[in-house]
Amino acid sequence: MADVKSDIEIARAAQKEPIQEIGGKLGIPNESLLPYGHDKAKISADFIAAQKGKNDGKLILVTAINPTPAGEGKTTTTVGLGDGLNRIGKKAVICIREASLGPCFGVKGGAAGGGYAQVVPMEDMNLHFTGDFHAITSAHNLLSAMIDNHIYWGNALNIDIRRVAWRRVMDMNDRALREIVCSLGGVANGFPREAGFDITVASEVMAILCLATDLEDLEKRLGNIIIGYRRDKTPVFCRDIKADGAMAVLLKDAMQPNLVQTLENNPAFVHGGPFANIAHGCNSVVATTTALKLGDYVVTEAGFGADLGAEKFFDIKCRKADLKPDVAVIVATVRAMKMNGGVKKEDLGAENVEAVVQGCANLGRHIQNVKKFGVPVVVAVNHFISDTDAEIRAVQDYVETLGTEAILCKHWAEGSAGIEALSQKVVELAESGASQFAPLYADDMPLFEKIETVAKSIYHASEVIADKSVRDQLRQWEEQGYGNLPVCMAKTQYSFSTDPNLRGAPTDHAVPIREVRLSAGAGFIVVICGQIMTMPGLPKVPSSEKIHLNEQGDIEGLF
Ligand code: ADP
Ligand code: MG
Repeated sequence: MADVKSDIEIARAAQKEPIQEIGGKLGIPNESLLPYGHDKAKISADFIAAQKGKNDGKLILVTAINPTPAGEGKTTTTVGLGDGLNRIGKKAVICIREASLGPCFGVKGGAAGGGYAQVVPMEDMNLHFTGDFHAITSAHNLLSAMIDNHIYWGNALNIDIRRVAWRRVMDMNDRALREIVCSLGGVANGFPREAGFDITVASEVMAILCLATDLEDLEKRLGNIIIGYRRDKTPVFCRDIKADGAMAVLLKDAMQPNLVQTLENNPAFVHGGPFANIAHGCNSVVATTTALKLGDYVVTEAGFGADLGAEKFFDIKCRKADLKPDVAVIVATVRAMKMNGGVKKEDLGAENVEAVVQGCANLGRHIQNVKKFGVPVVVAVNHFISDTDAEIRAVQDYVETLGTEAILCKHWAEGSAGIEALSQKVVELAESGASQFAPLYADDMPLFEKIETVAKSIYHASEVIADKSVRDQLRQWEEQGYGNLPVCMAKTQYSFSTDPNLRGAPTDHAVPIREVRLSAGAGFIVVICGQIMTMPGLPKVPSSEKIHLNEQGDIEGLF
């Protein structure tokens, strides 16, 4: 394995084209590109607005089985498929999320794909990139500062300082800031109260930026954020604090999608990055809708497994932005099938067809679930060097029994040449017009029934357990006019159930709801099942200990 190059080595050797040439492939004139250096550019809001009314290309979602420590490679496959479609002569655009800084310094793992299916410049993309996340951090914290300032100057809105829901954010894993007391130090510093920090990707501002259709919609949604409550429990909005206008100003540039390229010089939009648990986990609506105007095929990715990521992509993003996905690609690996079949991570190297067959139940459930949305499915078997022919055959045979095809893909090792068969199949499915996409539930279904629908239909749970307080809260929001919002499920990504250790395809489990939160600006109800971390910590030996600049000034140790 000595000749296997690391992701960063491959990325550094990329023969990049000037970003104007990449934009040119999509018909974006130079004056509509706002370059950030030579290999990154934002696409101007004017150009985006001028695309209205043009025809849309086909939309392809890349999703996956439940993640395992064995790794699945959704982003790698999204990038590979984009390159593969270009290789067979289609004008394809990739749409993925930006990376959060925090995890880069924690556990190794980038967000730009891997092997010979990567987006470059990957160091930039994984670090400050074009500053979007810093803008989101600033906009979020401006509102935080204005809330405490309002309280300081007399609290005319009668905010109950015990019920301020709006916290502070930073793009760093820092468990020391999860819970804090702010405004300490005497009269001049305000009224001490409990507060805390979340990571920037967990900010509602991030979710809003990713769902807003333009700057006007952005400002309206920011105004709708609920920052806290009065003693009589009535909500106080961001617009009451009068922060929405200034927040939109800070976000003006960040709203414009970023254009970069793949290793094979094909266009990739990298924009936004909401958490996939307390938010919806996909790239921005603006990037996706713009890509659909410019390309014939748009390949995009949703976070986690299809039970969380694809469901939210369909029920939140597609519903809100009126997108009609044409094909879903479910990424599976032989290794992950083995883990779902009970094999330990250290034993993955040995052939075990029986465990692969056992573990296929997880994949099968995802295939059937995605079909419930009316979208045709194809499985991409992301090839690892250790996979044996018999194991691969076992996955393909299983998938065939469900009337679906599983195609072996070698894009990680070979780039677009290794993913031609999948690309052809995706084109065939997209052009067949077979997709009859519809969200899982109607807007007017009562909120609790929406939760039950997802739990029973997607997770195969027998029941949803919720205290009276949760049900009362949902009913109250319905009375206040929030009943038509979709639900954003926050549960473990490792299982269909709420128990991360329950692999495979569990049935008859119960889904307990701990808490419900209203994200009135983003426009969804977050349903929390189990512990959800909104400010991660660093591991005992963080990867930041290894990251440094070498003698040439190149970044070492990032990936
Ligand atoms: P996801 O999007 O599902 O989280 P990524 O595509 O980011 O996963 O891949 C995670 C890691 O796994 C990357 O470092 C990538 O290089 C590696 N990886 C992906 N596919 C393969 C493969 N076929 N063989 C070896 N490593 C792979
Ligand atoms: Mg990914």
